[in-house]
Amino acid sequence: MPAIPKERPYHCQLCDAALAEEECGFVCEHVAHGAWNTLLADRAAKGKSIPDTPCTACAFAMEAKKKNAEAKANIHIVCLACYRKQRAQNIDTFTKEDVERGYVLVSRRHYDSVVKREINLEVGVIEVGRALKLGFSPIPSTHPISLERMWVRVTCLMKGGVIHGSLANDPELFKRKVLKADDTVIFKAGHVLETELPKPARKAKGEPKPKPAPKKKAAKKKRNRG
Ligand SMILES: [Zn+2]
Ligand SMILES: [Zn+2]
Repeated sequence: MPAIPKERPYHCQLCDAALAEEECGFVCEHVAHGAWNTLLADRAAKGKSIPDTPCTACAFAMEAKKKNAEAKANIHIVCLACYRKQRAQNIDTFTKEDVERGYVLVSRRHYDSVVKREINLEVGVIEVGRALKLGFSPIPSTHPISLERMWVRVTCLMKGGVIHGSLANDPELFKRKVLKADDTVIFKAGHVLETELPKPARKAKGEPKPKPAPKKKAAKKKRNRG
């Protein structure tokens, strides 16, 4: 990451808190302002509490010493509170296999902690043929959007809660060699963000109102005649 800028005191570029030099964290602008970016946090340097943290796109570009990599990263200074918040709404956990494959699936626990849904999702029993929505985040990250939610159709239930599904559509964020319709996606129940509609509760709403009881009608008619 580039050298620290000159002006003192330093300020968090997100909340404007004044910071001592050792309190400054450095993140790329995508981590500073975005969500669902896969990111790479270094170890914090000695005496510092915040590790340098670029998104995977910026990290890979800087690693490859690409032209303009630092300019594109547009490094922001952040305080610890803002760093924690931004790190929590981006993605800091993925495996070597995820990197090789080019995406990581977002867990429902993580998704819910950021999106804060009103009613917890009941996934129910997962069976072959069910349609389930998963969240895919690219590695390297893409901006301004770094999450695509897509349906998969369950094709196979494996040991240990591992589920195979077939991607139902062509993605927008991913190149075809990474992910395309009908590709097999391997996931677990904890990755399911939505389940297929319609839900049974919806049906009841559309039903016609029950007709008034015939007895009353008859009585009314009689009275009218008389
Ligand atoms: Zn701040
Ligand atoms: Zn970045």
